[in-house]
Amino acid sequence: MTLMAEPSAEGRFGEFGGRFVPETLVPACQELETAFADAWSDPVFRADLDHILRTYAGRPSMLTECKNLGDQLGIRLVLKREDLNHTGSHKINNVLGQALLAKRMGKKRLVAETGAGQHGVASATAAALMGMECKVYMGAVDVARQELNVFRMKLLGSEVEAVHSGSRTLKDAVNEAMRDWVATVETSHYCLGSVMGPHPYPYMVRQFHRVIGDEARAQSIELMGDVPDVVVACVGGGSNAIGIFSGFVDDRTRLVGVEPAGGAAVTRAQPGVVHGMRSYLMQDEYGQVQEAQSISAGLDYPGVGPEHSYLASIGRAEYPNVTDAEVIDAFQLLARTEGIIPALECAHALAWIVRAAPEMQGQTVLMNLSGRGDKDVAQMMEVLGK
Ligand SMILES: *Cc1c(COP(=O)(O)O)cnc(C)c1O
Repeated sequence: MTLMAEPSAEGRFGEFGGRFVPETLVPACQELETAFADAWSDPVFRADLDHILRTYAGRPSMLTECKNLGDQLGIRLVLKREDLNHTGSHKINNVLGQALLAKRMGKKRLVAETGAGQHGVASATAAALMGMECKVYMGAVDVARQELNVFRMKLLGSEVEAVHSGSRTLKDAVNEAMRDWVATVETSHYCLGSVMGPHPYPYMVRQFHRVIGDEARAQSIELMGDVPDVVVACVGGGSNAIGIFSGFVDDRTRLVGVEPAGGAAVTRAQPGVVHGMRSYLMQDEYGQVQEAQSISAGLDYPGVGPEHSYLASIGRAEYPNVTDAEVIDAFQLLARTEGIIPALECAHALAWIVRAAPEMQGQTVLMNLSGRGDKDVAQMMEVLGK
């Protein structure tokens, strides 16, 4: 029996998850649940997806051993290179899966939310590949902050709508995308960007990302003769982390998901309901959802996927947090020692490894390098000075 089985019929992982949506969205969630179950058990769908992942996204992604930095830290450090995927991160695994599923369901249009714009770009990419229309909702504040990604989405043929409600950021974009989906469900699929939202999203998105963990487990055994002692990943909504954890959850491997100090939903451990799910989330004393704050826009989500709350609650995975200052150091450290510029998101995972290395001497540590740092170079130029 695996710890990462299917959730219960109501989409619960322990006391987390579920489907907290208005009546009007229930049929759409049910249709998706059935369609995904059908597709996932169909060898033809799985072979089609596997083919696209290999010939378009560039899978399998390789493992890279970091000899220089590992020696410096006194550990054996290995990276899972999701940064080498097409569009530069793990996000492509999920969007290609959902777009292929949407097509199979006869949908002609994708709806997506995006914060920093990375999931929007990935969705626009998948839509272009599959010949579908795509509309991306993005908070007006983020539209102004992320000009380049807005332009990328337009180049890829997608429409970008700036959302002016609420705080005009990611959580408002999610609400608008859900509203669009309710109104257009006959023709549209909501391509959600992480392991969050109402059932079946947390389960479905995890299944689309398990390829990271399945590959990494086999590659670790080939490289090191065993599973690693520790697996580390950053956590925004938690999709890249759950993807790599899924390969090792039934092993002896220690699982560590690293959050930003300004968005430490699991550390606070206050359950609440947001965006259709029950999970740990950042809220004030009145239960109002708070804005997360982080140097990395991709981790600015106030909650965490329900399966992470579950893994934390049963003590199977741990969720420490790191400061922006530690992240800035880690970002430069990987560049200088290994010639790899990481995305600021996964620099969080490395920051924790640097901090914890004195207690992990001689251990094997596998880190998910969820994305490349090209998108963050201009921001870091401002932080560090030219
Ligand atoms: C979006 C993003 C994340 C955060 O999303 P998760 O669902 O927590 O994985 C992490 N790393 C990169 C490179 C991203 O683009």
